[in-house]
Amino acid sequence: MNLVFLGPPGSGKGTQAKRLSERLKAFHLSTGDLLREGVKNGTPLGKKAQKYMEAGELVPDELIVGLIEEKMASGILDKGYILDGFPRTVPQAEALKAMLDRNKKKIEMAVLLDVPDEEVIKRLSIRAGIEGRADDADVNTVKNRLDVYKKQTQPILDFYEKERILKKVHGLGHIDEITERLYKAITGK
Ligand code: ADP
Repeated sequence: MNLVFLGPPGSGKGTQAKRLSERLKAFHLSTGDLLREGVKNGTPLGKKAQKYMEAGELVPDELIVGLIEEKMASGILDKGYILDGFPRTVPQAEALKAMLDRNKKKIEMAVLLDVPDEEVIKRLSIRAGIEGRADDADVNTVKNRLDVYKKQTQPILDFYEKERILKKVHGLGHIDEITERLYKAITGK
């Protein structure tokens, strides 16, 4: 199964994508994790991405699309995957579709983990204390990421709505409860 996970920063989509990928035996591909690893190891990609990430801005589309193309070509995604953090702009969604069309493949479902703004802001400030992520620590950076999400990522919802594969799942509640909700939405079981 090939899935896209969507949701605002702090919606819990990373945590849930990881859990669901284990259950569905799909590969969990988080662009945020890959980029943070690149920054930590000082890779060429990490060096280019760092300044955008620290400001809460998106990394340029071509860098991210290149990264995804590389992962697709490597074969690690052949048995199914959950994309977490990609696509994040309409051009990225279009690039993904073009990439898949070329190989006669497709995304079966785009799942939105729906969480209200107030909750997201609260969660991100808690996460800053726990994980020490630079982009969570500053309140203006957090606000900027939410703005960026609204302006650049939310339009993707229309894109997948038109493709008739968007599924919205309520993202408030206990972590386990949300995993079940997602599992049911995805598998129908
Ligand atoms: P968040 O919790 O904010 O959704 P992520 O771990 O998914 O965090 O991403 C962290 C940062 O990595 C983003 O703010 C952005 O700078 C960069 N990033 C991750 N995925 C993408 C993408 N698909 N396009 C552009 N930038 C991205």
